[in-house]
Amino acid sequence: MNIDITIPAEVDLELVHWPFLEGYGVELAVLRLDKTDKFISGNKWFKLHYHVQQALAENKQGLISVGGPHSNHLHALAAKGRQLELPTVGLIRGEPKDTPTILDLKAMGMSIHWLSYGEFRARYQPAFWNHWLNKYKNFYNVPEGGTGVLGAKGCYVIPQFIQSHLAHLGWSDYDQLYVSVGTGSTFAGIIWGDQGKHDLFGCLATPLKFGVPLQVEELLAEIPCYYRNYGLLEAARKGFGQVDGTLLAFMAEIEQLTPLLLDPVYTAKTLFLIYQRVKEGVIKRHTKVIFVHTGGLQGRRALVDKRDALFI
Ligand SMILES: *Cc1c(COP(=O)(O)O)cnc(C)c1O
Repeated sequence: MNIDITIPAEVDLELVHWPFLEGYGVELAVLRLDKTDKFISGNKWFKLHYHVQQALAENKQGLISVGGPHSNHLHALAAKGRQLELPTVGLIRGEPKDTPTILDLKAMGMSIHWLSYGEFRARYQPAFWNHWLNKYKNFYNVPEGGTGVLGAKGCYVIPQFIQSHLAHLGWSDYDQLYVSVGTGSTFAGIIWGDQGKHDLFGCLATPLKFGVPLQVEELLAEIPCYYRNYGLLEAARKGFGQVDGTLLAFMAEIEQLTPLLLDPVYTAKTLFLIYQRVKEGVIKRHTKVIFVHTGGLQGRRALVDKRDALFI
């Protein structure tokens, strides 16, 4: 595949020094996608790349998409629009409120429309998009979460990037890779780019009833990608976006012991799952593990406010 993505120099692969892991003889390196860009952050930087190229190639007048009031996707989209001087529109689920994310979206010039839960649920129906694309003529509809084949295509480069940075760790190769899964397009792109070389694990941020495993299969078929060296693991705990005391304590401990910041919706749950699998002996001594930090730190601000309210 022809890859024309230049990954920002700040992104790197780092060993995680965490005494717990050292006790179990497991080596962990983290791919710091959270360092891509302060605003266009994490996996969204990769997922938006080809969508935006497509919008520009089609001479679109702007970008429109949907999401929740803490959406990392809309945050990255607003930032990308501002960078390219392309208007952006966010269709947001729920009652109007000023979360830290919403305040940023407004500051970055995104036009915001609030949708009731009922209206939001209709987003898979053609009439929904007829309405909005009639209001915002010639806008490019970026699929929710930046997903789809174009979203996955932006992530194809990730395994190659890891491979080319292993030498910095003194590793010749690695055994397993873990990454958070929302829509599954980042994971599909990684499976595609890995070309069957490693054990790849997608950690589901949503409960199984959301049907994401099937979505991953469908996306791989659509690409098409024939590699199936992957597993999907349940990581949602109490539910999508739900936090619990154990998770918060884990986040606090990681943030104290390592330079990593985590978000409660995706990355904290994935790293917690790695922790559990090491403790249970599923990840064995001498295993070399890659944890892809997919970013999402802007969305963490609402939680940190909540955590302060809970604990102080
Ligand atoms: C959006 C997001 C994901 C999910 O990515 P998908 O490609 O939809 O699976 C994972 N981690 C973070 C931090 C995200 O913001």
